[in-house]
Amino acid sequence: MIKAIRIHSPGGPEVMKWEDVPRPEPGQGEALIKQEAAGLNYIDVYFRSGLYKAPNMPLIIGQEGAGTVVAVGQGVTAVKPGDRVAYAGSLGGYATERVIAADRLVKLPDAIDFKIAAAMMLQGMTAQYLVRRTYPVKSGDTIVVHAAAGGVGLILCQWAKHLGATVIGVVSTEQKAELARAHGAAHTVVGHGNLPAEVKRITGGAMVPVVFDSVGKDTWNASLDCLAPFGLMVSYGNASGPVPPVDIGILSAKGSLYVTRPNLNTYTAKRADLEKVAGELFEVVGKGVVKIEVNQTFPLKDAAAAHIALESRKTTGSTVLLP
Ligand code: NDP
Repeated sequence: MIKAIRIHSPGGPEVMKWEDVPRPEPGQGEALIKQEAAGLNYIDVYFRSGLYKAPNMPLIIGQEGAGTVVAVGQGVTAVKPGDRVAYAGSLGGYATERVIAADRLVKLPDAIDFKIAAAMMLQGMTAQYLVRRTYPVKSGDTIVVHAAAGGVGLILCQWAKHLGATVIGVVSTEQKAELARAHGAAHTVVGHGNLPAEVKRITGGAMVPVVFDSVGKDTWNASLDCLAPFGLMVSYGNASGPVPPVDIGILSAKGSLYVTRPNLNTYTAKRADLEKVAGELFEVVGKGVVKIEVNQTFPLKDAAAAHIALESRKTTGSTVLLP
């Protein structure tokens, strides 16, 4: 048997149960890994609460982890028992051991330990595709990053600064503002009530070419009002709830704007893309350009406490669950 956090129906943090589960066997193209650390991500809250529909019940939530390959199924040649590996974007992460499609695994460089790997694969690969592909950030850009002291946020601030951008980070407290500034945000705005006016002041009226918005419902309007004509609204999360249906005429009224609602799985669906995205992440972390801040760790069995902390905005940076 293995241990896992499972939900039997969607709901609050209390629906997560620490249970004995039969040890899975790797099938064709799969690998069994012993997890040394699992990542906590906001998407885990969406699957737990029912905002995102569970593919099956009971469900082992969690989409990120790092550990050692224990066994492989038929046809697997890319990884072998003993390899240090990590992954993101595959349900089943809140477990001591798990089976996963072997082509979703990446081998870990020696310099990256399991805890850092579990903290960074999902949030870091997300930051990669956002600043390198969704909107390739370039020197001289001024950009807006919401939840700038969060998991994705702290990585985005550091990476965008490295690419030459001036980051305006949006946060909810002065302490979080300080943290975002320490990680590359040139400016911080506390709360979004006055955000467009602050962006106008900071940019001398020019506004910004892109907003990275992971907050969703609460910030949608303010974010659109920060954009320069032809600007790109990147709505990539729903921490405050999903954005309600939109009349696309608003994009015309506010200056021929663009909008995208991207997700990591599309950007890493092809094996070559996964390798490129992970490779760039390993490079910036390896060089120290991006520091992964694991500011909270919880025993995996206490995943409910970790969810409560995340949802009540008490966490900063990344959070890791230890089996
Ligand atoms: P964070 O560490 O950023 O935590 C969420 C943060 O959102 C909070 O700390 C808080 O920061 C802010 N927030 C604003 N309003 C609320 C609210 N009503 N309730 C709770 N939090 C709120 O989480 P992650 O780094 O794991 O994820 C960040 C976002 O990115 C999530 O929305 C997630 O779904 C999304 N995401 C999307 C991906 C994609 O590919 N589309 C992939 C990865 C993440 P503050 O207190 O400063 O406002």
